[in-house]
Order: sequence, then C-alpha cells, then structure tokens
Amino acid sequence: MPDAAEPAAATPATGAPVAIVTGAGRGIGFASARELARKGYRVALVDLGGAELDGAVATVASEGVEAIGLPCDVSDYALVQDLAAQVLARWGRIDVLVNNAGISQPKPILDITEAEWDLTINVNLKGCFNWCKAVAPKMVDAKRGRIINMSSVSANTGAARSAVSKFAYCASKAGVLGLTRGLAKELAPYVTVNAICPGSIETHLTAALIEARRDEITNGIPLGRVGTPQDIAVVVAFLATVEPNYITGEVIDVDGGQWVN
Ligand code: NAD
Repeated sequence: MPDAAEPAAATPATGAPVAIVTGAGRGIGFASARELARKGYRVALVDLGGAELDGAVATVASEGVEAIGLPCDVSDYALVQDLAAQVLARWGRIDVLVNNAGISQPKPILDITEAEWDLTINVNLKGCFNWCKAVAPKMVDAKRGRIINMSSVSANTGAARSAVSKFAYCASKAGVLGLTRGLAKELAPYVTVNAICPGSIETHLTAALIEARRDEITNGIPLGRVGTPQDIAVVVAFLATVEPNYITGEVIDVDGGQWVN
C-alpha cells in the first residue's frame, strides 16, 4: 500500500520526454532549448518565426533529438492553445514548459503609452498565462509536469536608472512571480511550477547596455562578470530534471549575487 500522503504514480508515457520553450530563437531561450536537448528532450521551440528560429531549431536538432519550430506570438491566446494541442498530437506528451519569451520596455511612466504598457503585459505576463492554460490540463491528466517561468531580478529591485527596462517590465516580471506561486499551489502535487530571476545576462536584449556600461555593471556583481545564457540554461535543466523533485513555488536568483550586493 502506498503511503496516503504520496501522490499516485504518474501515467506511463512513451518516447523521449518533451519540452516546449518559448522565446527559443536566441538568447536564454535558445540556450535552454539546447541544454534540454542535451538531456535527451524532444524540443518545440516557440518564437516569432523567420530565419533565426529556423537556425535555432537546426542547432538544437544537431544535439541528436527531434526539434520543431513553432512560429507564434505568445500573446495570441487561440494560437497558443492550438499549438500546444499540435505538440501533444505529434509527440503524445508534454513534460516541461519553459515560459521565457519576453520583451523590454525602456520608457518611464512619464513617456509610456497605454499601448506600450499593454504590449509589455501581454507578452511578458499574458504569454505565460496562455501557455500555462494550454499545457496545464495535459500535465494534470498525465500526473506529471514541470513549468519554469522566466522572471527577472527587476521584479524584486525595480529597474536601475540605466536599465533597458523600466517600471512596466518590472510589473510584468513581478506578475510572473505571483503567477508562479499561485500555480504551484493549484497544480500540486503532480505539476511543479518554479521561476528564475536572471540578473544581467548578455543577450540581444541587453547587448547595447552592457557594451556601454560593462565596468559599472560588473562592479555591481559579486561574482565579477555579467552572465551568459548558459548560466540560466543549466538552472532550467536542473529544474526540469532534478529527481526526486521536492521544489515548487520557488524563485531562483541567477544573478552572480547582484541582488544581495
Ligand atoms: P532576447 O531578446 O535575446 O530573446 C527573447 C526571445 O523572445 C527572442 O527570440 C524574441 O524573438 C522572443 N519573443 C519576443 N516577443 C515574443 C512574442 N511575443 N512571442 C514569441 N516570442 C517572442 O532576450 P533574453 O535576454 O534571452 O531574454 C529571455 C527572457 O529572460 C526574457 O523573458 C527576459 O525578460 C528575461 N530576462 C533577461 C535578462 C537579461 O539580462 N538578458 C535579465 C532578466 C530577465
């Protein structure tokens, strides 16, 4: 007899595990998709589409796994529901969802328009909702699943004066933390939901800022360097694969100590 406190066993699934990674065309999402491929996951790479996404899919597939590209604006609710159903129909399982797609919003309150606020929230926060809404029922049915949401150090600190992203971005990323904690409780005990708060990671999003202020930024990071996408990807892979897994509703700062400094 299993202990009453133990969740029932997960439904057996066939084939290699499957991960969906949004914003996977470049940067942190691409590195995360490739890292999951190295762990043997079949990977659906979600991004806006075009040559960058095609190239990312080819590189991830070169790790020896199946990889597909799903051109998609994550803020499009109906499209996201359809694409999640397509992944399930193709591969029969969805084990991991990485909600990583995000945009910056550099305007302060005095300059921002309503449309710019809406876009920031729609991509950074509603995009997470759209994919969680699409994938959570399938994970609950399977009694198995891990959701990993990309927040930001800015959710906790507010943006610095020099940051590429100001209050609207901070608000969207703080929303991601609330969504993570709420879903961690709602989807327990079978599905875990965690968030990562990257610090200053050198990607397309931050390249110009870091290039212009590298010394100043580095001086604020106890570990003495800006981060790389791979610094985040290994934590994504950890949250996706750690066994036994007793982590949910957790927020992991991956920022070289930037926030405690
Ligand atoms: P990036 O710009 O290099 O990559 C973001 C990817 O998301 C791009 O491929 C882009 O096309 C895609 N994307 C944007 N809008 C989309 C949409 N509507 N639908 C689908 N895809 C969309 O940026 P990155 O630095 O790799 O950022 C990844 C995530 O990490 C973001 O959520 C970002 O807010 C977060 N983050 C980054 C840093 C950093 O320092 N780079 C710090 C904290 C948090």
